[in-house]
Amino acid sequence: MASPRTLPVTLCGSLSRLASPLGRSMHEAGYRALGVAFTYVPFEVVDLPGAITGMRALGIRGFGVSQPYKQEVMGLVDALEPTAERIGAVNTVVNTAGRLVGHNTDWVGAMRALEEAYSLPGARVLLMGAGGAARAIAFGLRDRRAVATIANRDRTKADALAAETGARGAGLDEAAKAGDYDVVINATAIGQADTSAPSPVPASALRSGQVVMDIVYKPIATPLLATARQQGATAIPGGRMLLHQAASQFELYTNLPAPLEAMEAALRIMTG
Ligand code: NAP
Repeated sequence: MASPRTLPVTLCGSLSRLASPLGRSMHEAGYRALGVAFTYVPFEVVDLPGAITGMRALGIRGFGVSQPYKQEVMGLVDALEPTAERIGAVNTVVNTAGRLVGHNTDWVGAMRALEEAYSLPGARVLLMGAGGAARAIAFGLRDRRAVATIANRDRTKADALAAETGARGAGLDEAAKAGDYDVVINATAIGQADTSAPSPVPASALRSGQVVMDIVYKPIATPLLATARQQGATAIPGGRMLLHQAASQFELYTNLPAPLEAMEAALRIMTG
């Protein structure tokens, strides 16, 4: 009797200290929507080199990579996509016939989320934060020829990132002048650990006609977004950046356009 045969399934997943269900929900929804034989497993890892060796040995097609691994993984792949190399962080590894290439889809996700609401070339942008996520966004803004000011609690870090990306550095008190900007982005962690933290931008500084993006997505609704809406600004939640960065990963893994609506519906179910 012939043995039952299963279709080959392509495996993707994520490598993090603490696995999150969000990536899996979005990617699996995308696979179902297109009917492709892919599956996605979030792995919790402590041994990153071991995990990457396993990726090669098992022919795993793609991994999302979370902090604290976004720098370490750069030394474990065979090549870096040039923007990921400039940013100095890899959040996606793609395995093509055993050759691993490190990409950064955080900046792509942020730019796609912003460009749904505003044309970036020449736009005056206030980017708050100078950590890993802000760094990816700052390089994206430079790529899109926006006129950026980078404001951070640690001013030295703001100035250093601004020098690297052709922006202006400032302290967080620049938030009081947010009304002077077309686009305001919170890329600090304010509002994530302490959900009772007030909006990092005073309501009086926000106005209609502006676009305000808060990249914090845990919680999905933040005081900054609520304040922005009250003032008549267009509010972009961090989930939108998350969705677009996952869509960009999906495209790298499958070589197919990402089914954004299906992926967004899955994210909405998870985040409310
Ligand atoms: P990170 O590298 O640790 O950087 C943290 C940033 O937040 C730094 O600029 C830091 O300022 C600032 N910060 C932290 N606590 C602060 C406080 N109480 N007051 C003022 N500034 C404060 O973290 P990250 O990876 O950039 O992540 C930042 C946030 O973005 C997190 O909430 C993360 O979940 C979110 N994120 C979202 C997406 C998405 O797709 N939506 C993607 C990546 C990250 P100092 O330099 O002065 O310490």
